Amino acid sequence: MRRTKIVATIGPATNAPDTMQALVSAGVDVVRLNAAHGDAESHIANAALARATADQLGRSVGVLVDLPGPKMRSGPIANGAVELECGREFVLTTQPVDGDATRVTTTIPDLSRWVRVGDEVFLADGAIVLRVVGVDDGDVRTEVVRAGTLRSRKGMHLPRAEHFVDPFTESDAASLDLAIAIKADYVGLSFVRRPEDIEGVIQRLPRRGHRPNLVAKIETASALDHLAGIVGAADAVMVARGDLGIQVPARRVPLLQKEIIRFCNMSGKPVITATQMLESMTRSPLPTRAEVNDVANAVLDGTDALMLSEETAVGLFAADTVRTMAEVAESAESWPRQRVDPAGVHTDSDRVAWAVAHASVQAAEDLGVGAIICPTRSGSTARRVAAYRPSMPIAGISPSAAVLGGLALTWGVHPLEVPDVADGDEQLRLAVRATLHAGLANAGDLVAVVFGSAGPRAGSTDTVRVVRA
Ligand code: PEP
Repeated sequence: MRRTKIVATIGPATNAPDTMQALVSAGVDVVRLNAAHGDAESHIANAALARATADQLGRSVGVLVDLPGPKMRSGPIANGAVELECGREFVLTTQPVDGDATRVTTTIPDLSRWVRVGDEVFLADGAIVLRVVGVDDGDVRTEVVRAGTLRSRKGMHLPRAEHFVDPFTESDAASLDLAIAIKADYVGLSFVRRPEDIEGVIQRLPRRGHRPNLVAKIETASALDHLAGIVGAADAVMVARGDLGIQVPARRVPLLQKEIIRFCNMSGKPVITATQMLESMTRSPLPTRAEVNDVANAVLDGTDALMLSEETAVGLFAADTVRTMAEVAESAESWPRQRVDPAGVHTDSDRVAWAVAHASVQAAEDLGVGAIICPTRSGSTARRVAAYRPSMPIAGISPSAAVLGGLALTWGVHPLEVPDVADGDEQLRLAVRATLHAGLANAGDLVAVVFGSAGPRAGSTDTVRVVRA
């Protein structure tokens, strides 16, 4: 039974009923709608399709709307593509021109004020590298230092760009409203630099009603300097290796991944490892050995979730890629886990809840129970229990689709829908029955039930009971 969660980006390869069904059946836990592509209608339709498909299959699937932030792009190219050759001059212009082998327009009006001679500019998401040789009247003259094919409207990156732009754009504000309207479980925030960037978005969330969990994408150099504050302010974190590998030297990313994941584990916050995990499977039915190792290593690092981007958005083998990821993750999980103690650094102050979650895991391991069952009002009991990485399955029990969706990213938690009833004993019986029905424990097993009792501390984890299922 796999513990690591899988996030899959939806796109043309997976936005039809049959392809979505294949994807969810293959083991996807969270669908990612990338607000950088598609329009509001397509995101609304894809969220509805993912949820309807999950319902049909008796699964719970979370929805993540990923806000791109100030994505910079190069402009259109005449005939769609052009080869840039090493040593040639290439101009980045603010003039609205059709690009060719000598120049391309950019979406950044102030580019000439942001760069200095000697700076590198990355085109096509880093495949092509230019070095700035001069600035003329708003145009930036460069020399091509890494050749490649430039297609229309590709991602463009400038190291240090984070210092010039607000990470939350007007277009992000519209996408956040959409995410709230469709009751997205998670919203991804790009180019976060400091905790204040997340706090600014929290101010925009409605005080009542649906509140998505905020996922801080770690992809700027500043975010690394403010990691503790960012992890504290966010509900979850993403190691966004694509942009991170441009903002800092790519060779640093493997060690940063370990540091970020470990810090999140110690803080009890779910963390996603993202980008190019099985990229060759976009076009090939088999992963490379290196990709298999990368997926396994992220699991060994302690990631809660693994993410697929192009592999499932436009890939030829989307469902096979998910199946491969699931198999590799499950295999890596058989390696003995390094346990961290989240209570050491946890970022909220509910020490009783953390201690009871810890005690429940300790009791569960001592007794070898079949499952740990967490009836939970907000999801926090299940998240705290998961933070201690128990060896048995965790059932996250709630009547609320929003609470269940908010558990979709958390390592080891199976979200199960169970109606709320007033009688405590009946509630416990229903929770145990749902756990058995989901195959997480067997009749006759001992199970540990962890919850917040009614009373003045209602909602906060304070009780563990061990019962026979
Ligand atoms: C990344 O940079 O790794 C990432 C996941 O972000 P995006 O897909 O928005 O570029």
